[in-house]
Formats: sequence, C-alpha cells, structure tokens
Amino acid sequence: MFRIGTGYDVHRLVPERRLVLCGVEIPSELGLLGHSDADVAVHALMDAILGALALGDIGKLFPDSDPQYKGADSMGLLYEVIALMRSNGYSLGNLDITIIAERPKLAKHIPQMRESLAAAFGCDITRVSVKATTEEGLGLAGEGIGAQAVVLLSRE
Ligand code: MG
Repeated sequence: MFRIGTGYDVHRLVPERRLVLCGVEIPSELGLLGHSDADVAVHALMDAILGALALGDIGKLFPDSDPQYKGADSMGLLYEVIALMRSNGYSLGNLDITIIAERPKLAKHIPQMRESLAAAFGCDITRVSVKATTEEGLGLAGEGIGAQAVVLLSRE
C-alpha cells in the first residue's frame, strides 16, 4: 500500500541568520528567519510525510510556542518524523523537493542536500530529488525562500 503527501513552506530572508537548506549550511549574506533554524526545505518535507500519514503538520507536532524548539535543528526534527513514519509501518518510496529562491544560487549545493536527506532516511540517493527554481522575480522576489515537497511512502 502506498500513501502520498505534499508539503509547502515559506520563510523570510533576513540579515544575521544562517541559511540552512536540507541540513546544509549555504554561504549567504542573508538567512531565513524562524523559530527553529528555519530550514524551509526540511519543513516542507516533514509536512509532506505527516500529510501522507494524515498525522497533521509540524506546527501540531513541534509547536513554536514551545521553547524547546527555539533554534531547533530541523534535521533533528526530521529524524523524529522519520521515526514516526517507521512506527506507523511505512518507509520512503521517494521524495521530490522544489526550492523556490531568487537568491542565492543553489545549483552547486544540490548534491550535498540530496546526500544529507538520503543519510537521514538511510536510503539510496536515487530516491531523493532536490531541485531549485526562481519565480522570475514575480513571486517571493528575493524576500524569502519557499519549498514544496512531495513524498511517496510505502507500507513495509
Ligand atoms: Mg517553516
């Protein structure tokens, strides 16, 4: 049996914050603002997994009103979501993430992002797709970074 899920998230770019995407720190003058490390790609991915399992979303699982998640490493939260996926009897079929950013350029960081996520799932990198696109200045227009994720889970 298969289950599919989607996730979407956006965070604002601001000075004096780190830029972390898929657990990889990207050199950038601006970073993403958020309660946690604001890894927008991992947030979308966690929402996709939770969506596939019909278990709500990360706001429900890790409320930003809870001080224990301030500055949280989103990869650490992803490990918890992966554990939840496994305890529900599912494993990753494949995942596909699109990061929407006018800046910085992300292409050269994509292989490392895929490796980071494949390591988190303990799966082959061929199951993990990360892509980046711009919105031609028409959407977030450089003020933020968005991410969309789709996952397919299969029953073990
Ligand atoms: Mg978020």
